[in-house]
Amino acid sequence: MYYDGQFDDSRLAVNLMQTATEYGATLVNYVKVTSVQKKFAKVAGVTVKDEFTGEEFSLRGKAVINATGIFVDQILEMDTKDHQATVRPSQGVHLIVDGSFLGGNDAIMVPKTSDGRVLFCVPWHNKVILGTTDTPLKEFTLEPRPLDEEIDFILETAGEYLERKPTRADVLAAYAGLRPLAAPKDGDGDKTKEISRSHKLFSNESGLITITGGKWTTYRQMAEETVDLAIKVAELPPKDCVTRELKIHGAKQTTEAERKDWRYVYGSDQAAILRLQEEEPELTLPLHPKYEFTGAQVVWAVREEMAQTLDDVLARRIRALYLDARVAKEMAPKVAHIMATELGKDQAWEEKQVNEFCQLADGYILQ
Ligand SMILES: Cc1cc2nc3c(=O)[nH]c(=O)nc-3n(C[C@H](O)[C@H](O)[C@H](O)COP(=O)(O)OP(=O)(O)OC[C@H]3O[C@@H](n4cnc5c(N)ncnc54)[C@H](O)[C@@H]3O)c2cc1C
Repeated sequence: MYYDGQFDDSRLAVNLMQTATEYGATLVNYVKVTSVQKKFAKVAGVTVKDEFTGEEFSLRGKAVINATGIFVDQILEMDTKDHQATVRPSQGVHLIVDGSFLGGNDAIMVPKTSDGRVLFCVPWHNKVILGTTDTPLKEFTLEPRPLDEEIDFILETAGEYLERKPTRADVLAAYAGLRPLAAPKDGDGDKTKEISRSHKLFSNESGLITITGGKWTTYRQMAEETVDLAIKVAELPPKDCVTRELKIHGAKQTTEAERKDWRYVYGSDQAAILRLQEEEPELTLPLHPKYEFTGAQVVWAVREEMAQTLDDVLARRIRALYLDARVAKEMAPKVAHIMATELGKDQAWEEKQVNEFCQLADGYILQ
């Protein structure tokens, strides 16, 4: 038996952004970098496009940091024409099944599997998350999809250790993610396990800084090294890093009893969400009879967490898509309606959002 830490990746990402805002950062979402701007061959900003209005505008900066995960090479190509790929995506698949499959509260780690990788069965938001795989990809899309062989491997291997063997029909959500691993040199073959998982940080001749690879586990260290490099490259006034001891937005020590209320994931914001429910009692109503999600969380996501689309709320604010894709589809019209009221959108917007989201969610449901 050993101990490990676990978290909700979306919640931490959102809380980090809120922390940045509180320390003076300006954040924008749904804004895409389309070119890198230069002054005397040195990077001086980026041109960006508002994904909703199509409007293009410039953002100037003394330092530009390219932290776009598996997409870093696209930005590097904007900087240098004959750029060689630095990242090799590796797909990892996760399957979600009901919590009863685990038969207890402890996670299971299978150290040796038929393909030599480890496999985890981890309790997560009252479900069990099974994974993962490590499939090298030559081409990738914004919405990667699990391959049949990855699904079969996970179900078969996990089935040997769970209370009962899960089948495709038991899978509540199936999804894939892409790891930005450092690209192998010619001749290194396809073995992504052997490709470095540590991060890669470098600056181009133009001064464009790129950070990629690495892990959530090491993100703070990665950020510290990146800012130190930016200070050097862009000749910014040197400053010591303060984030080692910095409390992240929402930070709160919780007891085991407090963690019984699943809303503890909001940390110190939980109280504000409960206040919202007191002020507007209709927001207390559940969004779906099977789950405890309420309208207050949707309103909170729009007002406090920059949610702009139904996908933002259902996938990356309350995680419904990742926990139960069919239920997320059923919740979609209600959530879209609450969002439309908050954002001042019309019925056509609601319908479009619901259609787009349901199409996306179908990719998370195994047929
Ligand atoms: C299956 C899987 C399992 C993992 N397990 C673990 C684990 O157990 N522990 C751990 O520590 N780490 C784990 N990781 C790694 C971790 O999730 C990644 O290291 C991390 O998400 C990468 O973060 P990032 O910010 O570099 O990139 P991303 O999270 O990919 O963020 C890049 C951002 O850049 C944006 N972007 C791209 N192009 C543009 C553009 N032109 N203009 C504007 N924005 C753009 C994208 O929209 C995206 O939001 C795992 C990863 C995967 C895929």
